[in-house]
Parts: sequence; C-alpha cells; structure tokens
Amino acid sequence: MPEPAELARQLADANELLKARARALDLAERRLTDARTDARGLAQANEKLNATLAAARDSLVALRAELDNLATPPSSFGHVVAVGEATADVATGGRLLRCAVSPDVPTAQVVVGTRVLLNEALLVVGTAGDTPSGETVRLAEVLPDGRLLVTGASGEELVLQAAAALDVAGLRIGVTLLADRRALLALAAVQRSEVADLTLEEVPDVRYADIGGLGAQIEQIRDAVELPFRHRELFTEFGLRPPKGVLLYGPPGCGKTMIAKAVANSAGSHFLNIKGPELLDKYVGETERQIRAIFTRAKEHATSGRPVIVFFDEMDALFRTRGSGVSSDVEATIVPQLLSEIDGVEGLANVIVIGATNREDLIDPAILRPGRLDVKIKLERPDRAGAAEILARYLTRQTPLNSGDTDPGKFRQELIDAIVDRLYARTEENRFIEVTYASGAKEVLHVADFVSGAMLVGVVDRAKKAAIKELIDGGQRGVRLEHVLGACAAEIRENEELPNTTNPDDWARVSGRKGERIVFLRTLVGSRALNQ
Ligand code: ADP
Repeated sequence: MPEPAELARQLADANELLKARARALDLAERRLTDARTDARGLAQANEKLNATLAAARDSLVALRAELDNLATPPSSFGHVVAVGEATADVATGGRLLRCAVSPDVPTAQVVVGTRVLLNEALLVVGTAGDTPSGETVRLAEVLPDGRLLVTGASGEELVLQAAAALDVAGLRIGVTLLADRRALLALAAVQRSEVADLTLEEVPDVRYADIGGLGAQIEQIRDAVELPFRHRELFTEFGLRPPKGVLLYGPPGCGKTMIAKAVANSAGSHFLNIKGPELLDKYVGETERQIRAIFTRAKEHATSGRPVIVFFDEMDALFRTRGSGVSSDVEATIVPQLLSEIDGVEGLANVIVIGATNREDLIDPAILRPGRLDVKIKLERPDRAGAAEILARYLTRQTPLNSGDTDPGKFRQELIDAIVDRLYARTEENRFIEVTYASGAKEVLHVADFVSGAMLVGVVDRAKKAAIKELIDGGQRGVRLEHVLGACAAEIRENEELPNTTNPDDWARVSGRKGERIVFLRTLVGSRALNQ
C-alpha cells in the first residue's frame, strides 16, 4: 500500500496529466476549427478559380470558332435535282454533280429543289433558304409525268422538273414560274397582278365640260353609249340593239382618252383603261388570257348595276389586221379572242368597249363589223375656234394674269387669240415640214397642220411656268403676252410629233395625213432642222 503522500503526489500527477490532455485537446480543437476555416476559404478560392478557368475556356472556344470561320473556305450553292442513298445530284454553277450528303444534314430536308451548301470537298453540308429572285418562265403545259413544259422569254420551249415544294396540281397554265434554268428546275410560282386589277379606275374625273371643241363628237358618243344605258326599255321596245362598242380615231393628243373618260364619268361607270402595247405580252397565249381576264373583271363589275367601260388605248397595237405580218402575227389569235369576248357581251348592256387609235387603217376589219365596234367617231385636230375653246379650259378665269390696265376678261381673250394667231399663221416662221409625195410633188406643212389639244395644253403650261419663275425672281405677278408667245415658240421647237424621218409614211398616217404616199420628209423647225 503506497504512502498517502505518495498517493497524493500520484493524484496530483494524474491531475496534471489530465489538465495537459485537456489543454492538448483544446489546442487540437482550435487547430481543427482553424483548419476548417482555411478549408472553406480554399474551397471558395477554388470555385473562383474554376469560374475564371471556365470563362477563359469559353472565350477560347469562341475565338477558335471565329478563327475556324475566318479560315473556312467558301461554300457553293446548288439545287438538288435528284436524291439517292446518302447522295444527292446537285446542279451548281452549270455542272451536275453527284455529291455525298453529310450525316449532319437531316435527309428529310434534302429533296428535289432544295438549295444546298457544298463544302470544298463538294460534300452537302447544309441547306440554304430558297432563293427569292431569279429568272422566270411561263407554264405552257403540265406533262402527264408531272414535268413542266414552259416557255422562256424569247419563246423557246423547255421541259423543267418541278421542285418538291411546288404544288404542280394547283398550277394554272400561263402562270409565271421562278426557275433555275441551268438546273432545269421550276422552283416556285410567282404571284402577279392581273392586268385587269392594275387598270381599273373608279369613275374617272373628266367631265364633258373639260373638253374644248369636239361638241359634235361628244353628241355622237353620248347618243351611242349613254342613250341606250339610260333608256334601255325604250331601245327594247323599239327593237333597237344598243351598240357594243365605239371606235374613236384621229391624231394623237386630240381628246380620245378624254372623251372616253367623260363618257364613263357621265354614266357613273367604272373604267378599265387598257394600253394596247402594254397588254401585248411576249409570252404566247398570255395576251389572250389577259383579254379574257379583263372581260371577266368587267362583267363582275357590271353585275353590280354600274356600267363598265373597257377602254383600249392604242388599239392598233393589239388588233391589227390578221396576216399583216407586223409583230409576228400574234393578232392571229388575239383578234379572235377579242371578237369572242365582244360577241359574248350579249345581254350585258352594261359593258361597253371603247377603242382609240390613230391608225384605224390597221385595225382588223372584223372588229369594226356591225354588232362589234360599229360606231366610229372621228376626232380631228382642232381648228382655230376649237383651239380657242381648248385654251379657255386651261387659261381660266382663275389663272393669275398680268393684264395691266386692260380688263382681265378682255386680256384673257387677247392672250388666247395671240396663241391661236401664232400657231395657225401660215407664215415662213411656221413652216414645219416639207413632204415629198411618191409622185415627186412637194408640199410644205405648217404648224397649223399639227396643232393638237395636247400641244395647246403644253403651250399654256409653259406660259404659266414662265410666269411663276418671273414671280419667284421678284418680277410681276401673272401671265403676260411674252410668256404665251415664248411658250408657243418653245412648244413648236420641241413638238413631240416632229417626225422621225426613217419611216415617213407611217409617221404621216399616225399624224392623220392619209392622202398620197409620202416618201420623204424634211423638218423645217426646231433643232432637228439643223441636222437635215
Ligand atoms: P388622245 O387622243 O391621244 O387619247 P388625250 O385625250 O389623252 O389624247 O389628250 C391628251 C391631253 O391633251 C389631255 O390630257 C388634255 O390635257 C389635252 N387635250 C386634248 N384634247 C383636248 C380637248 N379637246 N380639250 C381639252 N383638253 C384636251
């Protein structure tokens, strides 16, 4: 048994030891906490580092992609014309190539007509959107196997394959198709407006009162067109067939269009204004289709109770005598088309055809037979009185005049008379053209022989412009005598009817001179006289 003192010492030692342990434990604990804090800090730093790294990697990838992009050789475009097992026949740059299709490209997207991208190795690597522009052709026929017989701009025929996206069953003959001619593919139908949609005018705003002179012609056309419109029952009762059409003929710029519009205005009718040359389409059959469309449109409008006037301007461009050899004889089919439309207007008293021409000698006589355009009205160039009447429509009471002390009404009349005198004088100064007839005889024609409504409007417009310029430059207000005389001289010099001397007889007929054949012309006024 140990001594108590010994025991006490041992206890004290043990106690010391315990304390030392506890201290060591404490220290260890504190270290652990420190280590934990350190670890947390490190983890955070690590996260940050990771994020920075990721960002750096991303920008590296982007840079690499950009670099790749810059270094990629250009791809070519082509149209697929046939599809095989993992291959496609592609027309590109005028060549037909059998190309492998990259597995990245969904096969469903590669069909006939697809626009594809080819890489340097001529592998199909992608699809491109449809091409929105290109050459056009017209559909002539859908062949039994679905291929398309089309005509090109110069009338040549081609057989094209239809793109898969093209709804062949829904195609109308004559439709315009967007095509890749080198690939012999029709890609899409092009929607175009019908001529009939482009040319419809609501009721035109020209009134009879706007037309100078031409009183007799206006009465003629009113009798022919308006009377039957307004008194249909009387015509039926008396057994009189209303005319279906009227031909207005005479030199250019003398009011044919104006009269037709005034008729429409007075009858409250719709007005389909068709310019002959514009309708003459280079595609076979297209003009006929347009004529059909025009009459369909006219009939639609006529059923609404309003009359419809179908006005053919420059009618001779379309309806020339068949077999005359001019313009490759398109008239051989166009004339019958018009005839059948006019004949079909039976019972549609609301549709009236008015034709205008300055070459009535060229129009196919069948069109002018009874029951068709059988009312013919000739419009002459205005005489002095007619010219004064026309001028009064443009030099109106409202036009600012510089009349000085003279009464404005009287002054206005003086200006009008001055213009008429200047244009109609058969003086040396007004010698216009010298014509040589086939017989060798010569004749000098004067400005007076060429005055038209359009020319008179030209004179007044020029005079007004001169007055405005003078006013802007600080001068006096209003049209004066010098303005109108200067305007006459300029209008004569720059007259649009000055002939082109290569085809004198044609010119003479257009200008309304239908006598002996003219073989030679010499202009005596204007800039061209100097060159003769
Ligand atoms: P076209 O006989 O060639 O159809 P227009 O009727 O189009 O001739 O006339 C051309 C322009 O000349 C008209 O817009 C109008 O300004 C003018 N004009 C021609 N004749 C007359 C007329 N008798 N009265 C008033 N203006 C006329």
